[in-house]
Amino acid sequence: MPTSVGVIGAGISGIGAALLAKAKGNDVWVSDGNEIAHERKKTLEQHHIPFEEKGHSLEKLVACDIIVKSPGIANDSSVLQALHNAGKHVIGEIEWAFLNQKGKIIGITGSNGKTTTTGLCHHFLISAGINAAKVGNVGEGFCHFLAEGDADWYVCELSSFQLEDVEAFRPEVAILLNITPDHLDRYEYSLDKYADAKMKIVQSMTENDTLIYNAMDPVTVLKVVSHHNEARMWTIRETDMIGDDKVFVKDDILLDLSRSRLMGKHNQVNVIAAARAALLAGCPAESLQSSLESFVNEAHRMEYVNEKSGVRYINDSKATNVDAVYYALEAMKTPVIWIAGGQDKGNDYQAIMDLVENKVRALICLGLDNKKLYESFSTKVNQISETTTVREAVRRAASLASPGDTVLLSPACASFDLFKNYMDRGDQFKREVNEL
Ligand code: ADP
Repeated sequence: MPTSVGVIGAGISGIGAALLAKAKGNDVWVSDGNEIAHERKKTLEQHHIPFEEKGHSLEKLVACDIIVKSPGIANDSSVLQALHNAGKHVIGEIEWAFLNQKGKIIGITGSNGKTTTTGLCHHFLISAGINAAKVGNVGEGFCHFLAEGDADWYVCELSSFQLEDVEAFRPEVAILLNITPDHLDRYEYSLDKYADAKMKIVQSMTENDTLIYNAMDPVTVLKVVSHHNEARMWTIRETDMIGDDKVFVKDDILLDLSRSRLMGKHNQVNVIAAARAALLAGCPAESLQSSLESFVNEAHRMEYVNEKSGVRYINDSKATNVDAVYYALEAMKTPVIWIAGGQDKGNDYQAIMDLVENKVRALICLGLDNKKLYESFSTKVNQISETTTVREAVRRAASLASPGDTVLLSPACASFDLFKNYMDRGDQFKREVNEL
């Protein structure tokens, strides 16, 4: 008798969870409280998976043997509350993937640097001929990948939303990069609650597993100490970083970032973490430097765009919180024309005041409401102006910049006031720079 699996939410991960359930021979049914996107409905129909939209039939969900939810659905939503009251156990999509795979997992989380570290670690592994897949909060997701194939190692990017619902999920190697304020609206504006969600990555780890964590980040250290876990610890410390661009991965393994496309202190941390995880997965030390040099990061993360009239342009549109901007500014070795702004997420700019004062020559606010940026930086930056178009922002930046300067788009804010998403914002920036 096949098991009946109910999936709540028909977003990318919900569809992946449903496809995986189907591929494993279960009876599957998808329920979404909103309208399901046309493309996704087509996918479900193609796979003969029945669904409902714009509401949930509670009795039908209650009748399922297993209920899987998408990470986008908060635990206090009415449907989950109702299932809870009915005594039903609901699992998350990452847990569902974990239960349906036989490989080994490198789980990567943190407020910033997940995508970079996941991509680099995966690149280290595949460059060394290890059968590895990049899954999790990237592309179509872990479940979708498993519906179509498998791998020996899964390099899995994990958001706090995904980690909220893990139980048995156990990575052989976990990386905890940093915990700084982000997405606090989902966690009653409590950094502690957000951090606790992230810490679920370690809860099922055993003494055979390894936790690599950033011992320079105070919240991370506090949380590692207070969350009991049995894993071996491998800390990333100041002494592992040599100057601006070299890192010790292990006593006798030194990597040089100056020959790679990655720059800045934050990327030194990412490289150490990714390389250590790769070593633990069996990657030979000799292959690491050349793999580092051939690694191309995803776009919009400290992405070098072009140089025009002696001015360098960098697209860091993915920097949607203050901490990411901190590291972007810290990595700058020239005066900066800084383009920032967008939808504020409750930002506190205190941490970057000194960097802005010392490095930023002009600030161009690119957002609908720029009051907070003006108020925060009016005594630190001589020239502040605002615009609502990328074209104007780039042209103004070009006219303000002197040869040798850097124009940096590193917004510290979400993009949804003026753009579809951070990619749209970054793409427009690159287009305008190239048209200068
Ligand atoms: P995530 O997937 O966690 O959002 P990304 O690798 O996409 O992380 O990077 C997002 C932003 O954070 C970029 O602006 C990037 O420059 C910055 N960043 C990357 N790594 C780190 C780090 N270790 N610490 C702080 N900021 C970082």
